[in-house]
Amino acid sequence: MKDNIKITTTQSSRLSSVDFNNLSFGNIFSDHMLICNFKNSSWEIPQIVPYQPITLDPSSKIFHYGQSIFEGLKAYKDVDDNIFLFRPKDNAQRLNISAKRLAIPEIPEEFFLEGLKKLLAVDKDWIPNSPGSSLYIRPFIFASGQGFHASPADEYKFIIATSPSGSYFSGKVKVLIEETFSRSANGGVGFAKAGGNYAGQFFPTQLALKKGYDQVIWTDDTSHEYIEEAGAMNIFVRIKDTLITVPTNDRILDGITRKSILKIAEEEGISVEIRKISVSELVASSKAGTLREMFGAGTAAVVSPISTFGFRGIDYHIPEFDNTYADLLKNRITAIQTNKVEDNYGWRVKI
Ligand SMILES: *Cc1c(COP(=O)(O)O)cnc(C)c1O
Repeated sequence: MKDNIKITTTQSSRLSSVDFNNLSFGNIFSDHMLICNFKNSSWEIPQIVPYQPITLDPSSKIFHYGQSIFEGLKAYKDVDDNIFLFRPKDNAQRLNISAKRLAIPEIPEEFFLEGLKKLLAVDKDWIPNSPGSSLYIRPFIFASGQGFHASPADEYKFIIATSPSGSYFSGKVKVLIEETFSRSANGGVGFAKAGGNYAGQFFPTQLALKKGYDQVIWTDDTSHEYIEEAGAMNIFVRIKDTLITVPTNDRILDGITRKSILKIAEEEGISVEIRKISVSELVASSKAGTLREMFGAGTAAVVSPISTFGFRGIDYHIPEFDNTYADLLKNRITAIQTNKVEDNYGWRVKI
């Protein structure tokens, strides 16, 4: 299959116009993209073309019924400019888990994996190698098929676009525990990486921003008593020396960073629990001084430490100290991703 991927390279590279020393997140796009069409009941062979706008009919179902899913992963360079991906097969598999739930046709895993490798080979000079930076990769599928009829589209596009990026969050975040709105519901699409999940998060997050917070902690949709995710990241809490995260279910995205952290923590001899965490337990441990850390986990930031959580008008601060689990886990994962240490898990994939 990979030898059939047609590559059309750009006549005018934008590479020299990019300041690789001042990258922010996700607003500069590499010269090329991969595009693959689903037509006549099958996925056609992907193509690599210059990064460019796409034309869609106004009746394309993405606009009306939101059939849209995505993934997020990164390519890293080591000091010798070797290129690596981190657990890309997990992203390919998760894209298809999302596809199934949104009635989008599943894409052959090799279209994703082999297509991505070819795309990275073409745009290898777009992968930054300074510490903390990487090439953010955004694979996505949406319904391009036409018609106002409320039913799954008959045509889709799978695209991989990439963006050289610096680090995602800077500094610790202040979060607000959300008790009114829900990110996801029982039986819903919370476990899928569906665009609509994000659309639904924006308004409650804007309200939190207005109150001076950076992010929302989502709670369960039924009782709002248990924490579930930190914005669009999985949540971890350290009480005394135990690292706790909540079990995944159909409301929670099964994060690859979360899974990797659990594995590394276990291997580091950290005591780990996977169980429900109630807001009242957080408040009680904060008051008792046993709540030592809270952080979000996801590809973009790896680990995003939380300094404060707000609940019912009161801010609970988490005291700072050295040698946090957040730092340890972030350093371990980053070292594996960037080929600085041995990878005992088979997570790193050399391109
Ligand atoms: C993508 C995402 C995560 C993190 O997943 P990773 O695979 O670690 O990047 C967590 N929660 C939500 C809601 C997400 O969309």
